[in-house]
Amino acid sequence: MYPPTFDYVRANSVEEAVQLLQEHGDNAKLIAGGHSLIPAMKLRLMAPAVLIDISRLGLDTIMVDRGYGLRVGALATHHAIASSDEVRQLAAALAEAASVVGDVQVRNRGTIGGNLAHADPASDLPAAVLALGGEIHVTGPNGSRTIPADEFFLGLFTTALEPNEIITNIGFPNIGFKQVRSAYVKFPHPASGYAVVGVAACLEMDGETITTARVAANGAFDHATRLTAVEDALTGATLSAETLSAAAEKAADGFSTDDFMADLFASSEYRAHLLKVYTKRALLRAAGLA
Ligand SMILES: Cc1cc2nc3c(=O)[nH]c(=O)nc-3n(C[C@H](O)[C@H](O)[C@H](O)COP(=O)(O)OP(=O)(O)OC[C@H]3O[C@@H](n4cnc5c(N)ncnc54)[C@H](O)[C@@H]3O)c2cc1C
Repeated sequence: MYPPTFDYVRANSVEEAVQLLQEHGDNAKLIAGGHSLIPAMKLRLMAPAVLIDISRLGLDTIMVDRGYGLRVGALATHHAIASSDEVRQLAAALAEAASVVGDVQVRNRGTIGGNLAHADPASDLPAAVLALGGEIHVTGPNGSRTIPADEFFLGLFTTALEPNEIITNIGFPNIGFKQVRSAYVKFPHPASGYAVVGVAACLEMDGETITTARVAANGAFDHATRLTAVEDALTGATLSAETLSAAAEKAADGFSTDDFMADLFASSEYRAHLLKVYTKRALLRAAGLA
């Protein structure tokens, strides 16, 4: 199916993109890799009159910013993230999530900024960014601001981004200065490859003691969500396969059946079951005990 007709304009700077968004209002959409937007337009789920191309703004740098942590440009592709030595060493969960997005073509075009802004509940990157304590740096008509990942994902395809804001980069503060182990695993939908359930786990360690645990899920709920009962069970615990397995059993605690997504492929009960299984796998993998 072809998308509806639209006008196309390329922005040459972040400021120009913000200005174009203001100019065209609700009629415009940013386009980065186009791998979520164009399919949605082909399905007539969206029909923007103007596409503002931001793909050449140069926001694709992945760097360790001394004194801050890791910064990943909004236009970094899934492939660039999955194959970055810095991301693999400091934020393994993010590299692993990016490595299982779609197929080679999708990973070569799709971007982290587009993935987070689209906020598909079955996307892979949101849980990794949540578990790693990321923050989303955005620029809009009133300047720049930082949105903690914990406050970014609000619901189905809904984020805290204001209409005329652009994600410029995703930051992971202090990540190079702590002893952090992380991982991402998913149960992919057999046809689309999207996450039926995906879990990212991040363990901050002091020797063999887990000082902080952050665990988050995709696919299970209408937006990426932290599993706080698991985190509470792990904080202060001594690392062992038994401790991690027992904590994973709490993955669905605090949620009702209605909180879980359900569709033809996976009922809410099945998703709740998968959540425990994949939480255990993510924790064991992060700890190097898989
Ligand atoms: C066949 C196929 C399989 C896929 N499988 C998976 C999968 O398994 N897991 C997964 O996570 N994803 C999957 N995807 C989606 C893919 O990862 C997309 O690339 C990604 O979700 C969106 O990134 P994009 O750069 O393509 O964004 P676009 O499609 O260009 O944009 C998506 C949305 O984000 C907005 N946007 C883009 N960039 C920014 C920015 N910097 N600031 C603010 N708003 C912005 C756009 O306006 C638009 O609303 C799949 C896609 C396809 C086509």
